[in-house]
Amino acid sequence: MALDSCSSQSALHRDDPAPIPTETPAPETPAPVEVPQETEAPLETAAPTVTKSMADMTPSERAAAWGLPEPPADVDLSAQEFKLANSYNSITEQRPNHSYGAGVIVDEVASAAFDNFVNDCIAAGYGVHAFRGYLDFWTVLEKYYEPEVAAHGAAYAASVTYAPGCNDHQTALCVDLRFGGTGYLGEGVDFRGTEAWDWLITHCTDYGIILRYPEGQESWYGTPCMNPGHFRYVGVEPAKYIMENNITLEQFMLLYDWDAVYVPGLN
Ligand SMILES: [Zn+2]
Repeated sequence: MALDSCSSQSALHRDDPAPIPTETPAPETPAPVEVPQETEAPLETAAPTVTKSMADMTPSERAAAWGLPEPPADVDLSAQEFKLANSYNSITEQRPNHSYGAGVIVDEVASAAFDNFVNDCIAAGYGVHAFRGYLDFWTVLEKYYEPEVAAHGAAYAASVTYAPGCNDHQTALCVDLRFGGTGYLGEGVDFRGTEAWDWLITHCTDYGIILRYPEGQESWYGTPCMNPGHFRYVGVEPAKYIMENNITLEQFMLLYDWDAVYVPGLN
């Protein structure tokens, strides 16, 4: 029995190998031979490409991957000044410790900073003032969001304002500034390019304050505040790093925690 099965298998084997070599590999081979020296280079470049995902990197490694300098140490993203809301990330919790800074409601961690920022700007000769600080959920919903939806639809509303939960003003860590040196200027009036603006941009980091929505970086945060003079408190060291490197608060936070902020198309 065993011999029979063996012999029948070997008989099958003998049949199988036979057709294989008769296939024709010949016609295509002459072409690649033409490349003489370049064949060595691709082998070398392919080998050392060890990719580490951004999610697995340390803050230093992520900064290097983005071409940024070493980020500040001892940054605690759970601190109040890193509360974040934007078009893609909403907050639900509101901190009750609201105070006044620059005449509007802000969180107590930011009140002295905004007071000093605006008062020093005024002392330097520029009549700026804050006209909007903290907004609660219902104000965002009823005063800003719903009217836009009712008038122009949800898609348009999302392009000019925020859904409740997504407005930076709900963090109580920001103010909208207006340049009132030449009389009343309505909401959203752009005073970029004025000396007052230059003073604010030059000095804001001394107070731990940043320009929240740098132009051209919408992919990080979504919709900018309707008022370009929207300044946000983050603390001195983070503020200096963010402004000196022209990055967003979102990108800064991602240096420390890849899951801190959702950015479409990135993480
Ligand atoms: Zn604003």
